[in-house]
Amino acid sequence: MLRQSPYILYSDGSGNIFEDTSLFTVGRSGWDAMPIDDEDWIELPDGGNLYELPGRRGIGIDVKTGEMRLCLKGWAVAAFIPPAHTGLYLAAYEALDDAPTLPLFCYTAAGWLDDKFYVPAVRIEQDIRQECRGFDKGKVDEGVERLLAAYPHNRLVKHLAENCALTYECPAARNYFMGRWECPVPASPACNANCVGCISFQPVEETIISTQDRLTFKPTAEEIVEFTVPHLETAPYPLISFGQGCEGEPLLMWETIKDAIIEIRKHTDKGSININTNGSKPDAVEVLMKAGLNSIRVSLNSVLPDIYMKYYLPNNYHFDDIIESLRVVRKYNGWSSINYFVFPGMTDRVVEYEALREVIRTTGLNMIQWRNFNIDPDWYLGRMGVTEPGECLGIGQMMELIREEFPDLKFGYFNPPIERMKNFDVDFAH
Ligand code: SF4
Repeated sequence: MLRQSPYILYSDGSGNIFEDTSLFTVGRSGWDAMPIDDEDWIELPDGGNLYELPGRRGIGIDVKTGEMRLCLKGWAVAAFIPPAHTGLYLAAYEALDDAPTLPLFCYTAAGWLDDKFYVPAVRIEQDIRQECRGFDKGKVDEGVERLLAAYPHNRLVKHLAENCALTYECPAARNYFMGRWECPVPASPACNANCVGCISFQPVEETIISTQDRLTFKPTAEEIVEFTVPHLETAPYPLISFGQGCEGEPLLMWETIKDAIIEIRKHTDKGSININTNGSKPDAVEVLMKAGLNSIRVSLNSVLPDIYMKYYLPNNYHFDDIIESLRVVRKYNGWSSINYFVFPGMTDRVVEYEALREVIRTTGLNMIQWRNFNIDPDWYLGRMGVTEPGECLGIGQMMELIREEFPDLKFGYFNPPIERMKNFDVDFAH
């Protein structure tokens, strides 16, 4: 708990950030700016970044008058908080008319106090797999060289090396080349949804760009099996995950994935096989569960069908399909998670909370991965057509209410390995 609110930050437009000690930082929920409780602040975790928000003025509370006003000393500043942490408030600012749409990152409130940067956030995940200090570039480069030599004709290993690990610096791909934990297996160049904030494809008419390019080929089951079996055999806490940020929807490749899972399990029973998906094809999920899939993570911006449909803009499926996919996995005693895009002022709406309770009850959900929503807040609310979000609980309080009502439901940020599915409190962080 801080002794007082941190001071607001501003940027001089030349890459320098300063504190303004005449203003305390406030947070944003939906369209509203509001004070942040002193106990909600944590130090900006290692691996976090600070962003200047072009064309935007920060909102703060005058330390003398207590009035809310703009910081006119420079441009607004927000924090990109690292994985394993969930933001409780967005950065509060007022956008000028010609302010550009912000790229696909999360924009959490940030402040300065006693020579430190602070953010309103919680550490929601103890798994250290994406701690930035845990990555060793030398070991990644060595792994890339060794595995490209080991699989000279494997297009997926080449993609994971050249694009994911060395260009996008994807933590999952770097963990693969360091021979540990979760190995990414992108499989689909196509998707059956058109998410507003898709990170692998943005329509040309949009002003923002996708943060990575989508896979350009359909891998074969042989290519998948060739590098995943050795990873499952040798890595600590091994798991492989279909469905990555650099592809479309893996369920569109269910036949190939089915063949790969069957072949993988002929060679090893180690580790677990997961799919990150939009959950659009419950029939395909059933086939994959029968083939040996262990877990699913369904991504969603909301459990309210209208807000979900406005964001995902599906080609040929409906909200009920994704709920059915979660049920199917539980029917086969698999582990089911939702990848819940957290947006203060939307996620913690009372209507959303009530709908989430229903989804947890009716699907037997195992885990919520409380992910920061990487999107421009004004742009998102505008595209969702939300002018009055209505009553909100606060992200922190919503988490507490869900935790109390569903004590067996796990909270986190990453797909658990089989060891954690069996005993969630396994101490694998060391
Ligand atoms: S489901 Fe994934 S790949 Fe498909 S549009 Fe949405 S974010 Fe993009």
